[in-house]
Amino acid sequence: MQELKDRIRKDGIVKDGSVLKVDKFLNHQIDAKLLKHIAEEYKRRFEGEEITKILTIEASGIAIAIMVALEFDVPLVFAKKNKTKNIAGSVYTTPVESFTHGTTYDIIVSKDFLKPEDKVLIIDDFLANGKALQGLITLVKAAGAEIVGAGVVIEKGFQPGGDFIRNEMGVRLESLAIVESMTVEGGVVFKE
Ligand code: 5GP
Repeated sequence: MQELKDRIRKDGIVKDGSVLKVDKFLNHQIDAKLLKHIAEEYKRRFEGEEITKILTIEASGIAIAIMVALEFDVPLVFAKKNKTKNIAGSVYTTPVESFTHGTTYDIIVSKDFLKPEDKVLIIDDFLANGKALQGLITLVKAAGAEIVGAGVVIEKGFQPGGDFIRNEMGVRLESLAIVESMTVEGGVVFKE
């Protein structure tokens, strides 16, 4: 998606440790119009697919996913990063290793909001090692629902997540910008 790549080139900041900061338009300050265009792009890419629910993970996936939910006219469910105990039985849960924090946390979705008849499109901001998407896929499978596909805004193609989700998990993955390489000095190079 050209508009997104141009914006990453203009406002993205490459940090040490292969982290790309996009705080200026995607996950701290948010450019709502860009998000609208991102949602329209997903609508085009998943045209003709039956989708009953959008699923993402808090916090930074929510703003993107709600625009996508509006576009498809279906509810958005976001997996919560669990802090409370004593919820066993009423939720689907799985551990996820955090890319940005290097810790492991549990994510949960209430059994009320994912049902076997659901056809789910998973949305997230970044794909690095694929742990967040893998966790969301695990929750959908636990509910017995169908995974239509996954959409990430920025895939870091030099990390293993994309290959893992596409080839090992067999999930259709649509990334709107794939970063082939990036350096602090040289910035970002995209895969065409
Ligand atoms: P994964 O689970 O694929 O390793 O990492 C995906 C999650 O880590 C995303 O939900 C995102 O919040 C965060 N993340 C991974 N890489 C980056 C990055 O380069 N920049 C930012 N801002 N977040 C990232």
